[in-house]
Amino acid sequence: MEKWVYTFGDGRAEGSAEDRNLLGGKGANLAEMCNLGLPVPPGLTIVTDACNHYYENGRTLPEGLKDQVRAGLRRMEAITGRVFGDTQKPLLLSVRSGSRASMPGMMDTVLNLGLNDATVEGLGQDAGDARFAWDSYRRFIQMYGDVVMGLDHEVFVEILEDEKGRLGHEHDTELSAGEWQEVVARYKEAIREELGEDFPQAPEIQLWRAIGAVFASWMNARAVTYRTLHNIPAVWGTAVNVQAMVFGNLGNSSATGVAFTRNPSTGENALYGEFLVNAQGEDVVAGIRTPQNITEEARIASGSDRPSLEKLMPEAFSEFRAICDKLERHYRDMQDLEFTIERGKLWMLQTRAGKRTAKAALKISVDMATEGLISQGEAVSRIDPASLDQLLHPTIDPRARRDVIGSGLPASPGAATGEIVFTSEDAVKAQDEGRKVILVRVETSPEDIHGMHAAQGILTTRGGMTSHAAVVARGMGTPCVSGAGTLRVDLRNELLVAHGVTLRKGDVITIDGSSGQVLKGAIPMLQPELSGDFGRLMEWADRTRRMKVRTNAETPADARAARSFGAEGIGLCRTEHMFFEGSRINVMREMILAEDEAGRRASLEKLLPMQRSDFAELFEIMHGLPVTIRMLDPPLHEFLPKSDEEIAEVATALSIEEAVLRRRVDTLHEFNPMLGHRGCRLAISYPEIAEMQARAIFEAAVEAAKKTGAAVVPEIMVPLVGLKAELDYVKGRIEAVARAVIAESGVTIDYLVGTMIELPRAALRAHVIAESAEFFSFGTNDLTQTTFGISRDDASAFLSTYIQKGIVEQDPFVQLDFDGVGELIRIAAERGRRTRNDLKLGICGEHGGDPASIHFCEDAGLDYVSCSPFRVPIARLAAAQAAFTNGKA
Ligand code: PEP
Ligand code: MG
Repeated sequence: MEKWVYTFGDGRAEGSAEDRNLLGGKGANLAEMCNLGLPVPPGLTIVTDACNHYYENGRTLPEGLKDQVRAGLRRMEAITGRVFGDTQKPLLLSVRSGSRASMPGMMDTVLNLGLNDATVEGLGQDAGDARFAWDSYRRFIQMYGDVVMGLDHEVFVEILEDEKGRLGHEHDTELSAGEWQEVVARYKEAIREELGEDFPQAPEIQLWRAIGAVFASWMNARAVTYRTLHNIPAVWGTAVNVQAMVFGNLGNSSATGVAFTRNPSTGENALYGEFLVNAQGEDVVAGIRTPQNITEEARIASGSDRPSLEKLMPEAFSEFRAICDKLERHYRDMQDLEFTIERGKLWMLQTRAGKRTAKAALKISVDMATEGLISQGEAVSRIDPASLDQLLHPTIDPRARRDVIGSGLPASPGAATGEIVFTSEDAVKAQDEGRKVILVRVETSPEDIHGMHAAQGILTTRGGMTSHAAVVARGMGTPCVSGAGTLRVDLRNELLVAHGVTLRKGDVITIDGSSGQVLKGAIPMLQPELSGDFGRLMEWADRTRRMKVRTNAETPADARAARSFGAEGIGLCRTEHMFFEGSRINVMREMILAEDEAGRRASLEKLLPMQRSDFAELFEIMHGLPVTIRMLDPPLHEFLPKSDEEIAEVATALSIEEAVLRRRVDTLHEFNPMLGHRGCRLAISYPEIAEMQARAIFEAAVEAAKKTGAAVVPEIMVPLVGLKAELDYVKGRIEAVARAVIAESGVTIDYLVGTMIELPRAALRAHVIAESAEFFSFGTNDLTQTTFGISRDDASAFLSTYIQKGIVEQDPFVQLDFDGVGELIRIAAERGRRTRNDLKLGICGEHGGDPASIHFCEDAGLDYVSCSPFRVPIARLAAAQAAFTNGKA
């Protein structure tokens, strides 16, 4: 016979904390507390498998369950000296859900089960308190009527309010036994009238219907939504805990409360919690009465004049405090506890790892490692890397009121407030005037870089997580919400139209790049605090990890920021971004518009010193660290104007005819630019561009080495290679330039030439490409795009539907598709290293800053990940966690 029921109580339990999958979190911890000898009311846990059986068999309970539950009840009766359904000394039960993962408040609970018209009398006499018995009975009917029988909770609230009004009472505590009896009668009457059945009197029937209701609540809409949001599989099922009731509502020597062993919002090592005298658990949560502080210290700090538990019930308090310490040491984590004091006697009802803010998580982990409770590696592994965002950027004060007018993708974390502007020019103008703005665009293009720099935050109504706006904003550490499809930009009238509100240029909005929300007005913010704990944890992380962490950066500001966040070099410098600055864009355009190679070379001559000084500055900032510079990647038309207005403007600036410019724009037009004339294809068509860039790199390396005294070993990276011959052609040009610069300067320059792996063909032919490439950097933005055949700029329109419908679990542009794109990475890594065993492997797509993808990179044996500056700490932590997990396994 399968074992469906595990009992606990009286100092021993059949299960333990190890049995979480079977007993659910609550059941496993009740068993564990029992085994630890803590005061836990006896009970039994029906295993999660029974829930699965219930759903697999047309909502019927498994055979043998009833007998096992009855046997468990007999044990509880023996321990408590009370009998379920007895009219003298009735045993009352709580019936509570408890799944493997905590799902607070999502499923159903019934308390005081076993009361009926006869047992209520016995309970009252036995307790010597009829009022308590009738109060418990009405609570039971109210909860059972709602949760099990399905009568709207409001029906009971109305009756109670009506009775209180009639009797002239303000608080529940003022009702007498007789008055509660009246309420009970009215509750039962309402059930009969509304549901056409009587409130069940037989305790056994009450119990089985309650157990069924807890199982049924596993599939209620709230629980299903919660599981979807938290990736909890439906097959886990819930356990049901049936436990002897203890009463916090048995007069003024009784109480009930909840506590955390450390402060869950600050992490401070101080017991933190609340309780209510003469109350049951749901009263604390319901907020009907204001709870009191547990410790004197907290009471004084909060300025409360109502006594603390420490003062009011000193003995129960000191026992409770000792239990808190014991549990925290036992579980080696901050605990969230529920307790009840029945006539002075303390009972523990629950313990679990407490939820906490990012700040508290950091402090608690660092403190516990310092106290010797956990190792430094464990401290590192306990922090959710994504939560560092909350510590590195300003965040919206959680206490602030949010007036949400729309939402999009959380493209770049942090919150920002400013006036709406619709053009980059306006953003720059506002910055010059000292005003803060949010740049609102349908989408951004490289031409918006200056506006994006000037803005506090960026909001786009189109584009996904790897859209231009998202990538660039993350690079700059500027908060960004992208693809906010419910908002509409009316550029002509300079309006931002949201559902129900229309905002104008100059109106103030706030964006929350961590949640994707767009809010009206200015909202109070909390500033980041890179306190000592943060630094210490990162130090431990750095000691734990194997992979290096580099950054994707091209501006000196980004490079400096990244270095201050601990970047160990640049993994990707996208040189195209350097061409949009100031007057360079027009020189670039001149080059693109030139009739022949000679014309192009003339313009490139003008670009050379600009690139050289950019690179020299980057090399200086990163002195002693590797810097990977990528050859020009985007198609040339990205540098040309698009609208008629812009064409006219540019024609004037370059003193050429509009028609000539238009013709060139038309010739360069591509149907599918992402698969068009870009990447190494540009260097093959126009080698002079690659040569100018190579020269700028080498000359800058010589210059920077002279200045800093540290040799620069540039890593030159060729994008979008699919064929070894492509790489060979471009590498040949680079080498020729290197020889020339070495000859001219008389300085030897070490350098590497490598390639991005961003096409499936390159991954498959890695062993051949590695004959020429000295390093590979996985460009997983393009590799995802080309493996799936999904355009990275158009994906947001349908990927959200894919996620909603369960076609994919994650946006593959955010988290690596381990099975497909990941397989290509593994193949390329393995084949590449077969040819060249010291082949350096890195990743520079957006996935390089995504913790789950970083774990994959560790497993695949990559040497480094590269990500935007603000993600560097996240990547350092995630890389350490991956190494720690692997080291332990
Ligand atoms: C990539 O494709 O992953 C990459 C880093 O290059 P880009 O995003 O510039 O195409
Ligand atoms: Mg790419």
